[in-house]
Amino acid sequence: MPGTPTNRIVIIGAGAAGVFTAYRLREMYGRFYDIVLLEANDRVGGNCYSTTVTYGGRNYSIDCGAQFFYKNPQPSYCALVEQLGLMDEATDVISAPAGFTVWDKQANARRLWLPSRLLGFLHYANTDWDRLAQFAIYMTYSAFLDRETTNWSLSVDDWFSKLVLLDSDFKENVIKPFMYQFVSLPLSRIGESSALYAVTYFVRNVFGDAGVPEGDENPPELPGLPTFQTYQSMIGLDGILRKALSAARVTPTLSSPVTSVARSGDVSIVQTAAGPIQADHVVFACDPHAAATILQAGGTSPTTLLDTLKGLEYVGLPISMQKDGSCWMPSNTDYWEPVSTLVDGSAVRFTAWFGRLRPSYNFGQKIPVFKTWGAPDIDGASCPHQFLPHRHYIPLPTTTFMTLRESLQGFQGKDGHWFAGGWTRWFDSQEAALDSATWVADQLPPTALPFTGRARMVAPDPQKVERNLRRWLERVARHAPENRRDAIAHAIDEVAAKG
Ligand SMILES: Cc1cc2nc3c(=O)[nH]c(=O)nc-3n(C[C@H](O)[C@H](O)[C@H](O)COP(=O)(O)OP(=O)(O)OC[C@H]3O[C@@H](n4cnc5c(N)ncnc54)[C@H](O)[C@@H]3O)c2cc1C
Repeated sequence: MPGTPTNRIVIIGAGAAGVFTAYRLREMYGRFYDIVLLEANDRVGGNCYSTTVTYGGRNYSIDCGAQFFYKNPQPSYCALVEQLGLMDEATDVISAPAGFTVWDKQANARRLWLPSRLLGFLHYANTDWDRLAQFAIYMTYSAFLDRETTNWSLSVDDWFSKLVLLDSDFKENVIKPFMYQFVSLPLSRIGESSALYAVTYFVRNVFGDAGVPEGDENPPELPGLPTFQTYQSMIGLDGILRKALSAARVTPTLSSPVTSVARSGDVSIVQTAAGPIQADHVVFACDPHAAATILQAGGTSPTTLLDTLKGLEYVGLPISMQKDGSCWMPSNTDYWEPVSTLVDGSAVRFTAWFGRLRPSYNFGQKIPVFKTWGAPDIDGASCPHQFLPHRHYIPLPTTTFMTLRESLQGFQGKDGHWFAGGWTRWFDSQEAALDSATWVADQLPPTALPFTGRARMVAPDPQKVERNLRRWLERVARHAPENRRDAIAHAIDEVAAKG
């Protein structure tokens, strides 16, 4: 009956945020809450979605959406994966160094190349060293930005206008395409992105503290030579989510889109095709536009909330999975890296190559499997290598987006309605999804059981970041020709003095 407390929580969406909310609720409240997890799709995972490809008689699990995680910027997530028993490097995760290339398709030349292996530096030309020196300065500026501001509303263009030690050609033609992988906006709009959003993930990855395993204060050789160490799950990131649900003993109801949520007295009425469900609390772990549609249909939410949710800009991103070749990698395979950005005039295409990120087959062959997206949208149908085309719905982190998501915090918990998701805080990732889920679970009555998770998202210690940054610059400089060495090694002092 409407109005009767239920101790029930309905979670809308079984992507990372919905699954982690269920997990944390069980962990913190035991059986106190009746957890109902409703998912519109016929699978768990949302933007975590994997498939299997076979090469040399061997099956490889391939993530078609979210793929990577990193120890430094994702300590809570890594702690959870470890808690689930899925962090064993021999059996559960693949760890590999990843370099990257920014490739100019029309000039058929690299704009920036950070090789995954030391060997790559043997092929470096003077222009590569010049670009690397600029990149070192960019990384220093980024580390300072991440350290010194919590202002998400500073745009990339406004930030760039203050970076006097960087050439404008480098900012526009190298850094903006490089930033695409973090912000997903077209090249012409990357200047509108939040600068902090555009740098925080990468800079914490390369220079942050190692977050896991707990108590490990002596991680192996961090930061790695000028590349970074990636982690991927052998069972896909969606496999990790399924394990989390099973550990929490929560069974999601799939193919069950929620159509409306209305508040009635002290409870909410959640409408599904199977009928209404009454709940004390509803966690919207879907994207903000779906939440707006659901709440608008319920008719009891304030217009200010609906406008905030609708104003958060999202895009349905077509993703092309390719095998036996790619349509968007550099023409010269010497420059193939796990992560590659191809600039084609005003278009940008971002590709992850699984070859270097999976064990080889048939004695040393790298699997020819690729994942690409871009702006404007790629035309996957014209690519002969394409299989499994699909779409993911993702946030566009402009400064306006940042302001709106900040104001959403004022609506959290009103009428028992909560918002969780990778988009709600920090940088859209497994870590942010988990952090948002943990935060929501923490807010609910009654007082939670002592929290057993091992790590919360913490900003890295600025002194350690600076020390790691210095070490990184020194390592890069050590391999540079003599006339570039000083510029790289002293980038940090230059930025501090003139920045
Ligand atoms: C191409 C791509 C690459 C990425 N790479 C990485 C990476 O390498 N590492 C990383 O950490 N992160 C990465 N991310 C980000 C990561 O995917 C997200 O941070 C995270 O998975 C978001 O989870 P979520 O639960 O917030 O949202 P989603 O995954 O979008 O889940 C929302 C869920 O809500 C469901 N839903 C919507 N409407 C309804 C409704 N009416 N009723 C019921 N259910 C509904 C949806 O079907 C969906 O399952 C990537 C994302 C994309 C798209």
